[in-house]
Amino acid sequence: MRQLKKVVSVAGIRIGGNNPVVVQSMTKTKTANVRDTVRQIRRIQRAGCELIRCAVVNRDDARALKEIREAATIPLIADIHFDYRLALAAIEAGVHKIRINPGNIGERWKVEEIIRAAKGSGIPVRVGINSGSLPGGIIEKYGRPTADAIVEAAEQALSVFTENDFSDIVISAKGADVPDTVEAYQILSARFDHPLHIGITEAGLPFQGGIRSAVGLGILLNQGIGDTMRVSLTADPVHEVAAAYTVLSALGLRHRGPLLISCPVCGRCDVELERIARAVDRRLKAYQPFLKVAVMGCVVNGPGEARDADFGIACGKGLGAVFVRGKEVRRVKEDKLVDTLFEVIDENIDN
Ligand code: SF4
Repeated sequence: MRQLKKVVSVAGIRIGGNNPVVVQSMTKTKTANVRDTVRQIRRIQRAGCELIRCAVVNRDDARALKEIREAATIPLIADIHFDYRLALAAIEAGVHKIRINPGNIGERWKVEEIIRAAKGSGIPVRVGINSGSLPGGIIEKYGRPTADAIVEAAEQALSVFTENDFSDIVISAKGADVPDTVEAYQILSARFDHPLHIGITEAGLPFQGGIRSAVGLGILLNQGIGDTMRVSLTADPVHEVAAAYTVLSALGLRHRGPLLISCPVCGRCDVELERIARAVDRRLKAYQPFLKVAVMGCVVNGPGEARDADFGIACGKGLGAVFVRGKEVRRVKEDKLVDTLFEVIDENIDN
């Protein structure tokens, strides 16, 4: 059951309430390089990204934001650490949201300056706690970035916003440790009604990082926690977006394009199933609707095992079957199997 939070709007993209979990990512270019940054934003957007965040490290980055905002057609978030003046410059440049980690912005008045500017521009702020940069006092108290340490840092950071009567907030409390991060979000969700941006930070390369993120985010989303998410990967951000949709789709929360189901292969299989599955996966990228498409290793068990799939193929020795919802509709030579599958799909759907 979704834990309903207040709704925060980022240039029309609504985060919280009963709105679908919003998928976001971050550019990996130098923000000051407008051309590469905009190009990357467009690629990520085509992959399904709905909010994009850019690191603002210096004045050149801040100056570039205006041009990026004008060229990009998805809401732009500026990611600021340490220097409150960069946050002010980003707000001035017209970004749609900023993300700060109040713990590293320094004195309270600097955070208050940012709050004043955000209020003036009517944009929300993500208060982004990160286990790697908790205030010194909290680390001394807890010894390491435990869930309670992350929550205490978030509460400290949020108090400045509450005292300044600013509630247009999204909270994040990302950690690199999955159980600590999950627990921190569970506590924060119970205590606050601000929407939550969820993620596992420094998750790793795509295979490991995707699994670590899926475990952490999957637990939270399955408990109704999380209003927007990023899968952080050491990889092209397009993979982050694809991974986020895979997590959401696995939980039945959101789907983007077809889902390939393929059997794990056993001794009954007489073909190179992985190669066939990859070929089907590549061709499915051209399809928009949510379809379950199965690639199964044998004709005897395949269609039955993938009864739930909308379309599928079951490979055999020399011959294979194309099936629609568990029922065989064609039997063709093995080398025609993939083409026939797509003929059958095209006959049955409007792409
Ligand atoms: S579909 Fe056939 S080949 Fe694939 S795992 Fe099942 S029994 Fe084995």
